[in-house]
Amino acid sequence: MKKVHNFTAGPCQLPQEAIDKTIEALKDFRGTGLPVISISHRSKEWSAVMDECRALWRELLNIPETHEILFLGGGASMGFLYVAMNLLEHKAGYLETGVWAKKALKEAKGLGEAYAVASSADKTYSYIPKGYEIPTDLDYFHITTNNTIYGTEIQYDIDSPVPLVADMSSDIMSRPVDVSKYGVIYGGAQKNVGPAGVAFAIVRKDLLGKVSRYIPTMLDYRTHIEKGSMFNTPPIFAIYVMRETLQWLKDQGGVEAINRKNKEKAALLYAEIDRNPLFRGTAAVEDRSIMNVCFVMAEGHEDLEAEFLAFAQEKGMVGIKGHRSVGGFRASIYNACPLESVQALVDCMKEFEQKHR
Ligand SMILES: *Cc1c(COP(=O)(O)O)cnc(C)c1O
Repeated sequence: MKKVHNFTAGPCQLPQEAIDKTIEALKDFRGTGLPVISISHRSKEWSAVMDECRALWRELLNIPETHEILFLGGGASMGFLYVAMNLLEHKAGYLETGVWAKKALKEAKGLGEAYAVASSADKTYSYIPKGYEIPTDLDYFHITTNNTIYGTEIQYDIDSPVPLVADMSSDIMSRPVDVSKYGVIYGGAQKNVGPAGVAFAIVRKDLLGKVSRYIPTMLDYRTHIEKGSMFNTPPIFAIYVMRETLQWLKDQGGVEAINRKNKEKAALLYAEIDRNPLFRGTAAVEDRSIMNVCFVMAEGHEDLEAEFLAFAQEKGMVGIKGHRSVGGFRASIYNACPLESVQALVDCMKEFEQKHR
């Protein structure tokens, strides 16, 4: 098999250990003689997986008893709607930091009064707005902690006078988070904690049941809390892989340990982008993401873009083409991406520089 370095934004690279465990479970799930995708979700063997998966979430993120962890369908995009359905009564505020934040805001606007408290649209979302004040009359304030497309990230827990809601699709489990500071944390699994097909929501239970609208059964967080995320058939396969991915993370030493590695990987790549005269980063330096690293050809070298892409692909780099709305390059270096891959990309950039001296 060709040696590849996978920088795809999502569905992304998952730990080989999790994939190997999954292959085993597809052959014989825990001695049942059945593949994990063909067992009853009401079986005691499956219940155990659900319990283990929830326990791993609780342990790895230190989730307090005030919050419930849910496994849901519909991806992060359905999460946009879940949030507004369950929490929006009078007014909601959003931090508009990119395409995903805008999509989240759109769903809230469809259900009530919602607006952008601050935005970085003026500079193509290349920075995180600062110095804004969160109004105290909001039902909640919504942030997107990592802007997957633009490569900016809020790497700290912000203080909010109203319940804080965060789409953490692309940086969940990449750094420690004080869950007690959030009303809801949600996202799709496919960027850092599993394959596509399952979404997660960490919900502060006492915030629910306060809106006057009718909430469709499947969109009501309470339905899934009451039934342990098994109101209907859960996405068994995706949850199984998520359980093994989290087990791998625990075996790596957990979130703090992986955060150190993530910072090291990001520092290595940004240092090369800043050093190499052929490239430049697109995100404001203080807001740079440690998950998605966006860069373009430096001024005067724009014509080399297609050539570098082909050069890198030839050397086994996969998925470094930037999002169609930004162009250039994006290297997604999530938890499972090894330092070795980042080093390979850096070497590739250095070699390209030599070639064009
Ligand atoms: C990928 C992504 C989404 C969309 O996720 P889906 O599961 O495809 O709906 C939303 N928000 C962020 C920050 C993302 O990175």
